[in-house]
Amino acid sequence: MLSFDTQFQSKLPDVKTTIFTTMSKLSADNNAINLSQGFPDFDSPKALLEGVNKAMQNGSNQYAHMAGAPILRNAISQKTEKLYDVHYCPETEITVTAGATQALYTAMAAFVNPGDEVIVIKPAFDCYEPAIQLHGGIPVFYQLEAPHYKIDWDAFKQHITSKTKMIVLNTPHNPTGTVLGKSDLLKLEQLLTGTSILLLCDDVYEHILYDNEKHYSACLFPELKKRSLIANSFGKTFHITGWKIGYCMAPKELMEEFRKAHQFNVFCVSHPFQVALANYLKEERHYIELGGFYQEKRDFFLKAIEGSKFKFTPSKGTYFQLLDYTAITDEHDVDYAHRMVIEQGIAAIPISPFNTDTIDPKVLRFCFAKKNSTLEKAAEILCKIS
Ligand code: PMP
Ligand code: GLN
Repeated sequence: MLSFDTQFQSKLPDVKTTIFTTMSKLSADNNAINLSQGFPDFDSPKALLEGVNKAMQNGSNQYAHMAGAPILRNAISQKTEKLYDVHYCPETEITVTAGATQALYTAMAAFVNPGDEVIVIKPAFDCYEPAIQLHGGIPVFYQLEAPHYKIDWDAFKQHITSKTKMIVLNTPHNPTGTVLGKSDLLKLEQLLTGTSILLLCDDVYEHILYDNEKHYSACLFPELKKRSLIANSFGKTFHITGWKIGYCMAPKELMEEFRKAHQFNVFCVSHPFQVALANYLKEERHYIELGGFYQEKRDFFLKAIEGSKFKFTPSKGTYFQLLDYTAITDEHDVDYAHRMVIEQGIAAIPISPFNTDTIDPKVLRFCFAKKNSTLEKAAEILCKIS
């Protein structure tokens, strides 16, 4: 009951607390092994932590530049050039954000008008849809099908209308662990050539790919680059999800609009963290070796659950693995995930909250960004489930 008589209509009537918060809380309340919300349970790099301390001691304690500390924008520009041989101007085409979440939200705020359609590929990370709705946009869903979760571009094309303002693309893909190939990006480029549709890329798992898969950034394709806003995050790359620092790259004209919203959304983000990241980013091995590091963890986890009743296709990217539980129960995934925490002491993420309403593929998502000892304990329990 409201204690005042103002009437208001919720802008997000169907939105509840996120499944990540719900499952992590349930896990903590039940003292379970938390393989649900995606974050490492091992330490962040010591040199990076020392870098923040040093930046604070050296006086980087007041507002950073609105678009991000120049030293960090330069480092991002150089990293992008090294990786893709593509230039983004640090002055005009890169903005440092409070994680990828803010980059994605600000991109929607800057470009989505009431009535605009935005195509979202489901299952989708949960922050896209509410951001579209809060700006009066209409999310239009393209649903991927288990177990391969591949995009059928002819079917996808049917979702494009005269009202389509933007497409959201996430590769490597959370939660399925799939990766888009060069042919996917070429097909998308073909579809968008000659249109004014924008592309909002969620590239937070840019460095986490396995089995020699390669990340095909939209910036590699000229017709895509000119219409793309690319959101990224240091949280996943440097084991610092709690720092909430990310960035957005886009051509100058798009970035100008993005910054109009950004400056009144957060203005700027934490200064000493940006300085530390700029120095840490200079060493290529800090991100180049990440795929190998997590591939070992993926393989360790999958080997350890080999004897279990769960079925899987090994993840190709991200640090998530979907496990199919149809051989165990036909419960709804949300119910099974809750029961697994309470009865088995393991927390995972159900996928149906990321799908369109009718889809319940009976898979759970497990995060393997954990110490091997944690993965071992989890696997032991998973192997006993019958
Ligand atoms: N997009 C995807 C696909 C994610 O998994 C996450 C979580 N890291 C984000 C965006 C948000 O990133 P950040 O924590 O940097 O806001
Ligand atoms: N990206 C993380 C995941 O997929 C969660 C981030 C969050 O809790 N918002 O688990």
